[in-house]
Amino acid sequence: MKYIALFFFCFFALTASAQTVVKQDAAIKQMVDEVSNKNIEAIVRKLVSFKTRHTLSDTISKTEGIGAARNWIKSEYEKYAAASNGRMKVQFDAFVQPQGRRLSKNTPMKNVLAVLKGTDTADHRVYIVSGHYDSRATKAMDSTSFAPGAVDDASGTAVSMELARVMAKRSFPATIIFMAVVGEEQGLYGSTNVAKRAKAEGWQVDAMLNNDIVGNTYGMETGLKDNRSIRVFSDGVPIAATEKEIAALKSLGGENDSQSRQLARYAKEIGERYVEQLDVKLIYRTDRYLRGGDHLPFLEQGFTAVRFTEMNENFDRQHQDVRKENSVDYGDLPDFADYDYTQKIARMNLSILANLASAPAQPQNVGVITSDLTNKTKLKWDAPKGKAPAGYYVLMRETISPYWEKKFYVTDTNATIGYSKDNYLFAVQSVDAAGHESLPVVPKPVR
Ligand SMILES: [Zn+2]
Repeated sequence: MKYIALFFFCFFALTASAQTVVKQDAAIKQMVDEVSNKNIEAIVRKLVSFKTRHTLSDTISKTEGIGAARNWIKSEYEKYAAASNGRMKVQFDAFVQPQGRRLSKNTPMKNVLAVLKGTDTADHRVYIVSGHYDSRATKAMDSTSFAPGAVDDASGTAVSMELARVMAKRSFPATIIFMAVVGEEQGLYGSTNVAKRAKAEGWQVDAMLNNDIVGNTYGMETGLKDNRSIRVFSDGVPIAATEKEIAALKSLGGENDSQSRQLARYAKEIGERYVEQLDVKLIYRTDRYLRGGDHLPFLEQGFTAVRFTEMNENFDRQHQDVRKENSVDYGDLPDFADYDYTQKIARMNLSILANLASAPAQPQNVGVITSDLTNKTKLKWDAPKGKAPAGYYVLMRETISPYWEKKFYVTDTNATIGYSKDNYLFAVQSVDAAGHESLPVVPKPVR
């Protein structure tokens, strides 16, 4: 067994050490730099110009309502796709949502998907970045009042669109889907349709990034201003875990190591590697109190998904009729959004997607061998399908640590590490020669 202890950094020094040791991929850095605050602002202002993007609003008008908005988003994606040599295809994901609690009638709905096909035909991985393009006013069923939804969630929609523009010109081994979904405010209808379709059609969705409310940097009441932090919400015990899986988590202490939590850690490591003045804050929750988002339907279908949301929210903006009351401005207007901040969040998303879609797939059947009592840790796994990894990182951390602390590089598909599996947590990720890393896989006990 051969391994090299690549670097060892304590958690406080993670960012500094990672930046000095781990090289950025120049091609990814170039894409990150191309993400434009001006384009993001133009997209948000155009979406606001449709007056309302309520899911039950007008679908006939060319200038107002949800119909005009989705047609415009589709036509923009088609412009970006023109630079993709036919690899990016744009589609409406259309369905009829039956009447429900926040839906007065059976409603035809359309998500907009731009699919950038991966170049590796043996590799069927899919990565999704998503924002919801629908908006609402104070009353959930009000489909006619001005509902600008600049931050909630034209900002997240702009992330998907701006990334499609930049990434359409490049190729990746895995497929990336840039998504703008509808019906979020009425009950996560758009993302539910895609998540169920993905499950039914057997899409191999390795990660879904939900950007919802990523454009405000001012905290209501507290007055806190924060243009460098982004929250990433991830489930600990997976929503879709079976009884048997939960029993295994209980016996081995795996409640902080779901695939979504691995994705959240990956977002922090990679995002901070490529974007300056960015602090990715892991929140050990699926979402905020009493609130949900478009990552939930993906988690329910057993996929890996996280939610990105600004650090401090301004509730005078969200879901508010546009008005002035006691000299307070209410409403989610584009003048209150911080486009430099959304640019930063878009750049973070791009670095995560580009690294994942360039990396080899995850190692398969990762196991920790439990057949003999030893103070070392023996791990084994199988190589993934598709592009062959140059090697693997075995990741290690103390059981009380939030982030991976040590990486061992190995070229075999097994490793014996001189630390006890009883005292540390482990995972294995694939890596290529250029340093693109897959998501880590936590080993299952094997004999
Ligand atoms: Zn939202």
